[in-house]
Amino acid sequence: MPEVARFVAELQPDITPLSDCTHAGITVDVLRLDQLDPHIGGNKLFKLAGHLDAFQQSSHRCLLSFGGPYSNHLHALAHAGKQYGFATVALVRGYDHVPLTPTLLDCQALGMQLVFVDKVTYRQRHEQAYQQQLSETYQAYVIPEGGGGADGMHGCRHLTRYTNGYDQVWLAVGTGTTALGVAANLSADTRLVGVNVVSDGGERMRDWQQRMPATASWALLDDYHGGGFGRCPSHLLRVIERYDKQGLLLDPVYTARLVWAFEQELEHQAEKWQGQRILLLHTGGLQGRRGYGLAVSEDGQ
Ligand SMILES: *Cc1c(COP(=O)(O)O)cnc(C)c1O
Repeated sequence: MPEVARFVAELQPDITPLSDCTHAGITVDVLRLDQLDPHIGGNKLFKLAGHLDAFQQSSHRCLLSFGGPYSNHLHALAHAGKQYGFATVALVRGYDHVPLTPTLLDCQALGMQLVFVDKVTYRQRHEQAYQQQLSETYQAYVIPEGGGGADGMHGCRHLTRYTNGYDQVWLAVGTGTTALGVAANLSADTRLVGVNVVSDGGERMRDWQQRMPATASWALLDDYHGGGFGRCPSHLLRVIERYDKQGLLLDPVYTARLVWAFEQELEHQAEKWQGQRILLLHTGGLQGRRGYGLAVSEDGQ
């Protein structure tokens, strides 16, 4: 297996303006992680890079992780396994008698072993004893759900190579791993703004208050989850349609919420942000559009 971490460290993602969002005196750019690789794009590539390094140094036979039926993380892991020649196993929340989602059909076609577990079993996914047991059963290196954990965070430090010279860096927050990895390496005069896509009763906020570096300037916006993970209310669909027309494809779960939140905040803060340079991370996830009947690429595929 080639050195995935080195490959990731040398990537050169494009930076494009957020064209539908022009305000005199404010620069708004988008870091196009969605374009890095047609299959393993986005922040999941960076998180995986951290884990693949650790996996390479272990003696495990395969990589095992967890996810729901539309998981971007499982999708990226299956592609990485195919590309670099290692076996992958997915513990999927759900039942195998329902028709497989497009995401899981892809995973299966790429050679990933799908193991379905019920909700109660799936709840154990964060427990060390359960992970240990899975590791032994499958001789697997276990990656936390969403590619989280210290190794996933470590992989995300590479993202700060693109954030120099920006006053603010915005990104969508699921597990928060990407944001924590970026914050650990971010220049002290750049503010990190996370848009929480999960309605979690303040759990992420408490976690960040504990774990964000003391010197970091950060904010977590908790009011833009839009009814909760996995839902795509009509205001988000309108955002997606508006940006589709300009060729900036957004996914319903993460990046549409990010752009929506940013536009709302910009309305109120435009004066305060005069002269600033702002970078939005497009963290990919476009395969997830299929769950909402949206095309995955610009040519309508
Ligand atoms: C997983 C994902 C995120 C969230 O990343 P975390 O590290 O879990 O916070 C953001 N955007 C997209 C497109 C994702 O797939």
